[in-house]
Amino acid sequence: MNSKIAEEDLKYIWHPCTQMKDHETLPLIPIKRAKGVYLYDFEDNRYIDAVSSWWVNIFGHTNSYISQKVKEQLDTLEHVLLAGFTHKPAIELAKRLVEITPKGLDKVFFADNGSSAIEVALKMSFHYHKNLGENRPLFLSLTNSYHGETIGALSVGDVELYKDTYKPLLISSIQTPVPEDQTISSAEVAIEKLKRILDKRGREISAFIIEPLVQGAGYMHMYHPIYIKLAKELCSEYGIHLIADEIMTGFGRTGSMFASEQADITPDFMTLSKGLTGGYLPLAVVMTTNQIYNAFYCDYSDYKAFLHSHSYTGNPLACSSALATLDLFKNSDILEENRAKSEYILEKVERFRELKNVKEVRQRGMITAIELKGYSPEERIGLKVYQYGLDNGVLLRPLGHIIYFMPPYIITYEEIDKMIDTAYRAIISL
Ligand SMILES: *Cc1c(COP(=O)(O)O)cnc(C)c1O
Repeated sequence: MNSKIAEEDLKYIWHPCTQMKDHETLPLIPIKRAKGVYLYDFEDNRYIDAVSSWWVNIFGHTNSYISQKVKEQLDTLEHVLLAGFTHKPAIELAKRLVEITPKGLDKVFFADNGSSAIEVALKMSFHYHKNLGENRPLFLSLTNSYHGETIGALSVGDVELYKDTYKPLLISSIQTPVPEDQTISSAEVAIEKLKRILDKRGREISAFIIEPLVQGAGYMHMYHPIYIKLAKELCSEYGIHLIADEIMTGFGRTGSMFASEQADITPDFMTLSKGLTGGYLPLAVVMTTNQIYNAFYCDYSDYKAFLHSHSYTGNPLACSSALATLDLFKNSDILEENRAKSEYILEKVERFRELKNVKEVRQRGMITAIELKGYSPEERIGLKVYQYGLDNGVLLRPLGHIIYFMPPYIITYEEIDKMIDTAYRAIISL
């Protein structure tokens, strides 16, 4: 049954982030239904979704509360344009996001996916400076960063695999070294390098964009919050905006509701998507300050308005799933429960450190990564772990030689055991 559906798929669908020829040997897995942490295929095999379906799912698949709220919305208002019109779910969501994000982020601009939110933040930052009579055509980002794959987002990213081909098309950006590890001393070294770049080019730069604490697609690289705090202070001296790309880190993933909280800062822009709707529907927001908002607020004839839009901006169904997700946060102690789960996961992965092919084990909140060593990219070691996982009922999707766990928060301790034991056996079988 699975293979028949896969065959039909391959006749028509060009899949994301895939060398399609791989599917000559690598089976595509059609999913029929999902519940909680489990995905079920058409032969009723089940897989623990250890990567939260590309980092979006928080409260499990087909969560009964979120589903109910989306169904209610479905029969009331499915969509309306957000220019000149508005609706309750968008207003309520914006209000609640302002309440829970760092103090000072008071305005919400809607988009419909993560990359679009990045484009919005970059354009807004550049445009803000322009409205103030300054030309700042350059963006700064961290080495090894990832911010999405549209042209602007790709330009500020630094993962060669995705970026190199398109170099001639990209907008101007430079990179400053990300701290090497989670220590304070490496954060201080990186801050010195940031200082030198800002001394030289600070007045050309519109914004410094970072993934706070954890660089997701950049192999789950992690660094200390002190870097963010010091970087924010430096940026302020040069009038440079700090964009906190919390598309992956937001909504509890790093242990606090937002990663920026751990650095005790309010960024000038915060981008959110992925977990925002609990993994249900595409939606993104860019949060910013009244000060930035006010630089665009004037008579139409001054031509300072932000004329950016997407057709599905602020879609009511997506907003209703986001509201339901926020309800679940409010009505549970999920962050506290996650703290205990993270500790448990860390204890469980201790034994990985003794394996000869393991270089490092690292964790931040509900993200735990195992870095392997001694393999060349041609060996495609991640693919082998992926296959092993699927054969044993766990969806692990390594990033190259990094195996990581990023499950929905509702995963049980038993399921954690299964997820980690399977990865362990995959690694020792290499
Ligand atoms: C996933 C991601 C994006 C891009 O979001 P899409 O919805 O996939 O376009 C941007 N930044 C970070 C940090 C991400 O993890």
